[in-house]
Amino acid sequence: MAGSDVMLEDERAAPDSLARLLARRIVMDGPISVGAFMAEALGHPRFGYYMRRDPFGSGGDFTTAPEISQMFGELVGLWCVDSWARLGGPGPFHLVELGPGRGTLMADVLRAAAVLPLFRDNAVVHLVETSPALRDRQRQTLQPILGDAVQWHDRLEDVPDGPTILIANEFFDALPIRQVQKTNHGWFERLVDIDPDSRQDDPCFRFVLEAFGSSGSRLVPDALRNAPDGSVVEVSPASQAVARLIGTRLAAAPGAALVIDYGYAQGPAVGDTLQAMRRHAYAPVLEAPGEADLTAHVDFAAIAAAARDGGAQSFGPVEQGEWLTRLGIRQRASALSAKASPTQAQDIRGALDRLIDPAQMGRLFKLVALATPGAFADANPPAGF
Ligand code: SAH
Repeated sequence: MAGSDVMLEDERAAPDSLARLLARRIVMDGPISVGAFMAEALGHPRFGYYMRRDPFGSGGDFTTAPEISQMFGELVGLWCVDSWARLGGPGPFHLVELGPGRGTLMADVLRAAAVLPLFRDNAVVHLVETSPALRDRQRQTLQPILGDAVQWHDRLEDVPDGPTILIANEFFDALPIRQVQKTNHGWFERLVDIDPDSRQDDPCFRFVLEAFGSSGSRLVPDALRNAPDGSVVEVSPASQAVARLIGTRLAAAPGAALVIDYGYAQGPAVGDTLQAMRRHAYAPVLEAPGEADLTAHVDFAAIAAAARDGGAQSFGPVEQGEWLTRLGIRQRASALSAKASPTQAQDIRGALDRLIDPAQMGRLFKLVALATPGAFADANPPAGF
């Protein structure tokens, strides 16, 4: 879409906000899918949410597990080392992260991987990241550890083939979803249109249903066809495509992948989960595109199924609290606290709760592991599964 003539016209006329740019596109082409809205809101080269800023931490819009505590990345790092060793420790391999944010998770993974110097020596680090602002931030974080030995890519397709350990934390929730809704005339895709009450120079958006129900009925999963009228169902063809590609990689060469995100285990599910976060609070999803983080619950069953379709074996999902506990986060917290001041010990306790408490991140966040078929026996699955 971004390469079409229409967009080029738009860009030449240089609208000064994403809302105006999207409004022009809708005037010319008609209402757009929720997925197209989300993709532009997050990834438009000039106005996209991730493209210009560092959204993390207390001064930003949201916080992620690696930013809460080093313990998270350390345990992910031990998982990577253990998986690699159990794959037979293939010589040089690709250590890939999708959507690395500030680079904190990769830094903690590499630090923890010092337990097995062979892992560090053989790892070639690849970061899949579209945002120039965040690439800079990742470079700053990783330079002291890796020097210039990091390779960036826009897409997983661009990472060379070969043995792979891959991690992705809160990457899939940022990939576009599409929404369909059941009406008494069948399934219709939900689209984003201009609110007719808004001013042309300050466009607002609203949801509408497509006119003919043709894409809606194509997108709805078979298992949900008979859902009650009014039901909204989400599908993420983009997430499934990435998961399938991970599956293909793992089928072609030894490897394992760890997908961590928030979402539902028993998909496909019914419900509208699209949400916008701005300064640590929910915001209206269609307001100020490009100014808020826009995410949706991840359908773990769909990710695992797509990866299996690509040729990988899948494990889980497991809840994050359970997984971190099995990997020893309580012991790690005690060890860190023993060397800490009383204030630091309190912070460690707070971070531990945030990561594993079912009422906080412990239950909503989940993990799926993907691996080369046969590399891990069902009786001896990847650590924590
Ligand atoms: N993993 C990090 C950051 C999560 S935020 C953490 O846990 O802190 C999502 C990350 O994915 C950001 O780095 C964002 O720029 C990147 N991203 C979002 N959509 C992407 C896409 N389509 N391709 C590549 N990177 C993307």
